[in-house]
Amino acid sequence: MSRRTVVNYEPDSSTSTFSTRSNALPTTKNWIASKRIGDHSNDVVAYFHDEGVGNYHYGERHPMKPHRLTLTNHLVISYDLHKKMEIFQPRRATEEEIMSFHAADYIDFLKRVTPDNMNNFSKVFSRYNVGDDCPVFDGMFEFCKIYSGASIDAARKLTNGSASISINWSGGLHHAKRVEASGFCYVNDIVLGIFELLTHFPRVLYVDIDIHHGDGVQEAFYTTDRVMTVSFHKYNGDFFPGTGDIDEIGSGIGKHYSLNVPLQDGIDDQSYIYLFKSVMEAVITSFRPSAIVLQCGADSLGCDRLGCFNLSIKAHGECVRFIKDFKLPLLVLGGGGYTIRNVARCWTYETSILVDHEVSNDLPYNEYIDFFQPDYKLHPHLSGKVENMNSKAYIQNLRIKILEHLRFLNGAPSVQMQEIPPDMQGFLEMNEEEEAELMADSIKGKEQKEKQRGREHGNEYYDNDQDVDQEMDIES
Ligand SMILES: [Zn+2]
Repeated sequence: MSRRTVVNYEPDSSTSTFSTRSNALPTTKNWIASKRIGDHSNDVVAYFHDEGVGNYHYGERHPMKPHRLTLTNHLVISYDLHKKMEIFQPRRATEEEIMSFHAADYIDFLKRVTPDNMNNFSKVFSRYNVGDDCPVFDGMFEFCKIYSGASIDAARKLTNGSASISINWSGGLHHAKRVEASGFCYVNDIVLGIFELLTHFPRVLYVDIDIHHGDGVQEAFYTTDRVMTVSFHKYNGDFFPGTGDIDEIGSGIGKHYSLNVPLQDGIDDQSYIYLFKSVMEAVITSFRPSAIVLQCGADSLGCDRLGCFNLSIKAHGECVRFIKDFKLPLLVLGGGGYTIRNVARCWTYETSILVDHEVSNDLPYNEYIDFFQPDYKLHPHLSGKVENMNSKAYIQNLRIKILEHLRFLNGAPSVQMQEIPPDMQGFLEMNEEEEAELMADSIKGKEQKEKQRGREHGNEYYDNDQDVDQEMDIES
């Protein structure tokens, strides 16, 4: 067995940010080695893409552009990466599957409302948080069924052992709640995918590198120790969705099984990767997941229309590589990402990492090549536009606090490896004490979100007359 490349976790080291190709597990991680699903050179990578999913429109000036999925798929194919994977046309999720998490009245509303009849539903718009961020658009529920069906099917490839890695770039809509839409998300495909994984795997680790807190997933699993959620995101109490401070740690038997890594504007490659690797290595060693879900929101890249970090595509991909190299069954999902040419570049690069195939920095010709002018490169320069507000001391303090939290896990999750999972509804049923604790934790976020709703809609999302599709490159 080859040894993992020694990673120097000093943030000012100039040599440790990106690992080399050989990244097998350290010999001290005998547990993980024993759980490996085999030699990853034999990985079957399942890739789910629906040809029509890129044709849905949230609205002309809305920053969420499903067209980014078409761009991504064309880049993946033009690099011949599809030849290294098993390609699947996803099945639509059924209403029954969606309602394994979501409330029936909310799903009934999503199913019935259309742009033509929406006036008849205006009384319940605020209840279901539909309107501005989450508009009613043509085919909205069909869109939800496509991306959710893809995540469920992708998870099923892992539970039935027919793939070791599953990819659904149309999924990762991490803000949707049981009874309401949020942050451009209506149905939480991640929760549905994790439900599927829990039918087979005792413990599932959820990792979220979107710039926004993965609040919907955290909330769904806040009181269980079978799913650990870890989210790296911008947090200042104001930034959407307003939750994700370091003191949100889970409750009841789920206490310490939610982990948040709150970051400031402008974080760079070196600091991010340093934190990511040191935190995730410790999490995986302590929690011992049997499967991992990785949400790869690309709004954490530099130059994102709604983001404010400085990450390069290589650094974003390094997080994917690091998780992949633990060689556990892995479900890879999309998420945010609003400068769509960079979203497509990022997810294509990450697909290449997942299939272990190096690709050229020169983009191959494809139907949408004009989106990538003037450089036509896979790795444009995306950093340095935002001042880095994360001092070395801040990063170190954060790391120390997080490692302190992890000490409470004690490497002793309550579910044995052989145990057949209980019915999923059990996760959603809390006792009064747990519910009160959850409410107390989330109330701060709710208040911030209310404040923010008014503010956001007055500025970045809708004041900009330019549609992102036409935006010029702002890379330096
Ligand atoms: Zn996001």
